[in-house]
Amino acid sequence: MTSSPSPVWHPFTQHALAPEPAMVVRGDGAWLETATGARILDAISSWWVITHGHCHPRIVAAIAGQAGQLDQVIFAGHTHPAAEALARRLVAMTPPGLDHVFFSDSGSTAVEVALKMAAGYWRNTGEPRTRILALEHGYHGDTIGTMSVGARGVYNAAYEPFLFEVTRLPFPEAGREQATLDALEAACREAPAALLVEPLILGAGGMLIYAPDVLAEMAAICARHRVLLIADEVMTGFGRTGTLFACEQAAITPDIACYAKGLTGGALPLAVTLCRGEIFAAHYSTDRARTFFHSSSFTANPIACAAALANLEIWAGEPVAGRIAALGTLQEARLAPFRDDRRFSNVRRLGTIAALDLVADDPGYLAGVGPRLAAFFRAEGLLVRPLGNTLYVMPPYCTTGEDLDRVYGAIATAADRFGPA
Ligand SMILES: *Cc1c(COP(=O)(O)O)cnc(C)c1O
Repeated sequence: MTSSPSPVWHPFTQHALAPEPAMVVRGDGAWLETATGARILDAISSWWVITHGHCHPRIVAAIAGQAGQLDQVIFAGHTHPAAEALARRLVAMTPPGLDHVFFSDSGSTAVEVALKMAAGYWRNTGEPRTRILALEHGYHGDTIGTMSVGARGVYNAAYEPFLFEVTRLPFPEAGREQATLDALEAACREAPAALLVEPLILGAGGMLIYAPDVLAEMAAICARHRVLLIADEVMTGFGRTGTLFACEQAAITPDIACYAKGLTGGALPLAVTLCRGEIFAAHYSTDRARTFFHSSSFTANPIACAAALANLEIWAGEPVAGRIAALGTLQEARLAPFRDDRRFSNVRRLGTIAALDLVADDPGYLAGVGPRLAAFFRAEGLLVRPLGNTLYVMPPYCTTGEDLDRVYGAIATAADRFGPA
């Protein structure tokens, strides 16, 4: 059989170097299955989106039911039961004070919406604040706006001329938190519009963890200077860090919060940006020029909203919190031996997420060992996609100890093969 090369251009993929992509035809729980019948353990939740497991029956049923009822409707001048119910439930379960819900369709758009809400708030209240503060190593998406607020590197060098300037605060590394807080205090004196953070853990920047009290302190500084705090919970939301939302661990309510990946349990693209009453109020006017000018064709798509509602029902009706706690314990038990393994550094865990850096002479996103690690895990039937020399395990909540044994066994073998002598 001959076939012409695929016209598909894959994301974050160097086609001249990458192996043929795996043809995945089925998903079930923590496992994927390929066209040739090979099974792959999804140890990164298919890019951090799958929470309960692939093809959870409740979510599948909700999607099928909604698809036969109402597939899509314009969301300006119209609404539908799934969006209304979902918005009410989100307001009830997110930190108190987040009272308005704006829908979009990806994490990047949720953050873009947050930035536009902040800009609109200051414009409409008559204060000329436009500068955004952000954390070093942050990641908020791949659109022009979200690349602007994220870390600069090889992955956005070509687009640098299009990116706007932001003020970057040093990452609040353990023992050096005061430097971050001092930098924030200093930056706040210039009356910026907002501080944008990934609460407690920076994902794509390398699974870098910081303490809840630092987040609480950052929130307090922002409040003192009337700087809006935007929490990008796109990755951290829906249980990853051990609590439903990461902000809970710092007992804070941001002014604006973004959720996406796990919102539908990972089954469909959907995002929300929630905000406090003041932000909505600043746009509420008989003056049409103060409208919040944002939309996308599929704003609050009914099928995606139905999937999200099913996800919230799973949270309400199944012992998800218990599963998350148990998964954290299972992860810790397997991670522990690596804490004294000199071939690894910065062995760390937050809730269900575990990460460790394989010592390399060229650490970072383009570490030479990265592709070799990726190929090795692939051959082992494991979906583990290292961030350079950083290995991390962020599995769906149905993952068993036996599943994790395979992952950590492979990590140990990888260290023998590719680690320092
Ligand atoms: C993945 C991610 C985004 C972007 O979400 P997309 O749905 O890929 O656009 C934004 N912020 C964080 C923290 C993320 O992890």
